[in-house]
Formats: sequence, C-alpha cells, structure tokens
Amino acid sequence: MKNREQLISAIARMPQVDIGHFPTPLEECPRLAETLGGPRIFMKREDCSGLAFGGNKVRQLTFTIGDGVHQGADTIVHGAASQSNHCRQTAAACGKLGLNCYLRLARDSKSIPQGNLLLDYLAGADVEIVDVPFGPELDALKFALADELRAQGLKPYVVASPRSTALAAVAFAWCIAEIHEQQEHLGIDADRIYTSSVGGTQAGLVLGTKALGMKLKPFGCAPIQWEGKLERMSSAANTAAELLGLNTRISHAEIQNTDAYIGKAYGYLTPECIAALKLVANTEGIFLDPVYTAKAMACLIEHIREGRIGADETVIFLHTGGTPAIFAYHEELLAG
Ligand SMILES: *Cc1c(COP(=O)(O)O)cnc(C)c1O
Repeated sequence: MKNREQLISAIARMPQVDIGHFPTPLEECPRLAETLGGPRIFMKREDCSGLAFGGNKVRQLTFTIGDGVHQGADTIVHGAASQSNHCRQTAAACGKLGLNCYLRLARDSKSIPQGNLLLDYLAGADVEIVDVPFGPELDALKFALADELRAQGLKPYVVASPRSTALAAVAFAWCIAEIHEQQEHLGIDADRIYTSSVGGTQAGLVLGTKALGMKLKPFGCAPIQWEGKLERMSSAANTAAELLGLNTRISHAEIQNTDAYIGKAYGYLTPECIAALKLVANTEGIFLDPVYTAKAMACLIEHIREGRIGADETVIFLHTGGTPAIFAYHEELLAG
C-alpha cells in the first residue's frame, strides 16, 4: 500500500474515541537549526495533542480506550512509574469520557504530588502508590485489580502490552499519514525522523513510513533499557499491520534504536539532556521533558555535531510530550 488515503481509511475503521486535537502541528525550528549549524529541523508537536497538556499517549489512547469502549468497558485500569505520562493522559481521557479510572503507580523517588501525579489526583482517578516494581509484576497487579472490580459489577479494561503497544503503533502509523500530508503543504521531503521511543511510537513510525514508501527514516532513542526491544517493536508493528489489513511487514533488523542516551537509568537526568532542554526552550520557546524528549534531542544534537546528519538534509523531531514532569524535576533542572 503506497496510498495515503487507503491508510487513513483503514485507520478510520478502527474502534476509537475522540479525545485529542488532530492533526498536531508540524513546524520549523529555524533558530535551533541555526544554532546547531546543521540540517533544517521541523518539529511534529504531539505535545500539542490537546488533552491534559498533550503528549503521544493521547493519540495512542484514542485506540486503546477505543478498544476498551468497543468491548463495553466502563472502567480503565492502568499503572506505570509514578510520573507516568501515559497514566496522566489516561486519567484525563477517562474524565472526559465519563469512565472510571484506576491507577496503580510504582513507588520511586518521584512519587511526590507534583507533575503528572498531581494531575492524576486532580483528574479524579483512584490512585494508589504501590511497592511493586514497574514491569510484569505491576501488570499482574493491574489484572488482579480488574478481577476484583469485575466481581463488584464493573466492566474493567486493562491498558497493558502487547495489545496497547500494537494499538499505539496504529496511532503512530496515523501520525505518519498526517506528516505525509503536511510535508506536501510545506514542500519538504524529510530524510529522518527522531523520537524518544522504545515501543509503539517508533513501531508505528516504521510501519507508516514503509507502508507509504517514504524517504523518511525513523531513529529512536530509548528512555529505558528494555530486553528484546527490537523484537517487541517489530511484533507491535506487524500486529498493527494485520489490524489495518496492510501487507507491509517489519523485521526487527529494520528498526534503529539506541540506548546511548539513557544515562544512569530511566528517569535520571544527564547533563546533555538538561542542556538540550534549555537550548530548545531558549531558541524556540518549546519545552521538552527531562525523562524522554530531552534525551532524544541530546541524541539528535550529537548526531548533528558528529556530522552523521548532513547540513543539506531535513530532519523531523517528534515531540512526544511529557512536559508536566518538568515540575517534578525542578531541583535537578536548576542544578544542571
Ligand atoms: C511514553 C512516552 C514515550 C515513549 O512512547 P512509546 O510509545 O513507548 O515508544 C516517549 N515520550 C514521552 C514523553 C512519553 O510519555
């Protein structure tokens, strides 16, 4: 399939809820590009996706909550790190749609009523901070809670991979269809798209660009070390392709994703990410977040400085959001 309209109509047939502002803008960042002295840089503003300070999870939840509502759910169960953007956008979407929302968040050094966690409380979610690490154990806890809620007569839907990662890939194949159209209007044909991802976002970018035969090559910067990440992403892309009836298939060898900018661990800032956050705020008035997007921007900056990206190229940076986390990291950001 090389036809944008066919891709868009396949996506339109998926169960979905209307919670965001789409299309998100694709805008040029001339002062940032001039400062770096490299390629033309455009930013795809998923941080402007409308709901609850925006972010890439609004587009993803369009289909995950859509899947739940399609199955008759009246309650959404989710859980992750305590400053999870995914959980904050879920809490807001549930408020907007009149669904019950249960969040079980893993205790860590940022389990403070600031940033995303503050917004979870304000959106009226049932929030519990639990002493279970973020990962398979927390997923098990989410499914056990869903069983309890079902026994109470509710109809819960659990947001968890692999289903949610595949639906996230559907969402970001849709994002590529938007970029394809926006590039036509802007008269550009970008060479690369950089993003913070280790899941559905990059899987969808890889699927969408291949399905449409685009020149655009996705490059992902992981925010967290994840065993078997390439296999998980290619499998999410292929499940998304099946859901959409596309014959495009992705092999894990086609996915480019680096762990080099994580630093000490997930959620720990690096000097390069703090510098990148300040540079983009300073040159474009756009705020990145310290956990995801600023690390991906640090990667893009280094690749430009090393000459891995030529000055004659055009790059898109996908801003996946996460900005409320800034307020939970004020000490580290001011110290850096
Ligand atoms: C969740 C998140 C990502 C990563 O998304 P995946 O779909 O897991 O790749 C990147 N940036 C921000 C701000 C996020 O909240």
